[in-house]
Amino acid sequence: MNDPYVTSITQLKRIATILKLPPEVVERLSVHDKFLEVHFPVTMDNGTVRMFLGYRAQHSNARGPYKGGIRFSPFVNPSEIRALSMWMTWKCSIADIPFGGGKGGVVVDTKQCSSWELERISRAYIRAIHTIVGPDKDVPAPDMYTTPEMMGWMADEYAKIVGKYTPAMITAKPIEKGGIEGRTEATGLGGFYVLQNLAERERLDPKQTTIAVQGIGNVGYYVARYAREAGYRVVAIADSKHVIKNDQGIDIDAAIEFKKVHGSLEGMPGAAIISNEELFTLPVDILVPAATENVITSENAERIKAKYVLEMANGPTTDEADAILEKKGITVIPDVLANSGGVTVSYFEWYQNMHDEHWTKEKTFSELKKKIDTAFDAAYLYKKNNSVSFRMAAYAVGVSKVVKAMG
Ligand code: NAD
Repeated sequence: MNDPYVTSITQLKRIATILKLPPEVVERLSVHDKFLEVHFPVTMDNGTVRMFLGYRAQHSNARGPYKGGIRFSPFVNPSEIRALSMWMTWKCSIADIPFGGGKGGVVVDTKQCSSWELERISRAYIRAIHTIVGPDKDVPAPDMYTTPEMMGWMADEYAKIVGKYTPAMITAKPIEKGGIEGRTEATGLGGFYVLQNLAERERLDPKQTTIAVQGIGNVGYYVARYAREAGYRVVAIADSKHVIKNDQGIDIDAAIEFKKVHGSLEGMPGAAIISNEELFTLPVDILVPAATENVITSENAERIKAKYVLEMANGPTTDEADAILEKKGITVIPDVLANSGGVTVSYFEWYQNMHDEHWTKEKTFSELKKKIDTAFDAAYLYKKNNSVSFRMAAYAVGVSKVVKAMG
């Protein structure tokens, strides 16, 4: 199994060579400022008390408070949380928002929990880590299998602890609890803005461009929906159980509705079931991994036929696979740029909470577009001028700003 932390360190070392960073700087950036492991009891619906394991990693706050999501998954582990928090440092820097990198997680299968249990787990987790979070310290947000509702519970629990409602301590809250308009769409929409920039630079005609999306959750759904609205043909989508394909294009909203009614994508009219393996080897123009990490590996990279990979998930490509894709001439738009829309709008939410403002959705989206366009231009220009991969170009932009801030 590929170790995401090892991947993140390999990437750091590679960019350090390109930027000619001194060894002591690389050593400093290879480790985390803090890594907290917490164990906490939660009373389950049947009256039993279960112990849960959670983490919070804080990689670097050289550019501002730590920032990063909280993941609830049975597969959460220290390596993943460390890697994700380092990637957040680069992402916030590339997006040019004044935050550093953090990440958290709880080992739990949310599908096995009731809503009441999830509320108690969310509250207990924030109690366990509350000393190291706060608006000026570390600002969490949702990630896989966590929701705005859970962020609301966490904000509420934090308020009980510190004796004051402090909305800027967490982002992607429900609107009524100080959330921002448009945060739900933000990551997918940001990915779509990246796609638009790419299409413009590479002269792609949406009507002639096909897309396959793995993971049709929050991020995958919105990137697929906006792309379809712009004329792209989304020919395959996947959730954790099924992959469906329709060469004429899939109506994303109809597919989501179908899943809601039938509990599964299987049987969606006009669409055929294909395997996960086939999804990655479809002759599409753009492959969008939007589910989880390590899905493009040395096992399948050689067979990928897409011309572009838009990494909407965090860390979907292993280091070995990255090298294979580069050799094949496949352009990978890296996660730290492609999915930076989420944290950018989270920053807008934090800013509004700190200044007691409330923006319209239109303003949020237009500010997001400006940030994404600027970040894309910077990485694209570096790539062009230095003949490096898109990933290394984005890293060069992000890492050099962090190093400068370290003083
Ligand atoms: P989500 O829980 O809303 O959706 C995840 C989706 O992936 C679900 O449809 C699930 O069925 C599917 N999935 C899980 N495992 C799969 C597999 N093996 N094969 C196919 N599908 C699978 O999560 P999300 O918020 O959409 O996050 C997806 C990815 O995007 C994660 O890597 C996350 O770290 C990253 N991300 C999320 C945000 C955000 O704002 N939500 C921001 C930046 C990055």
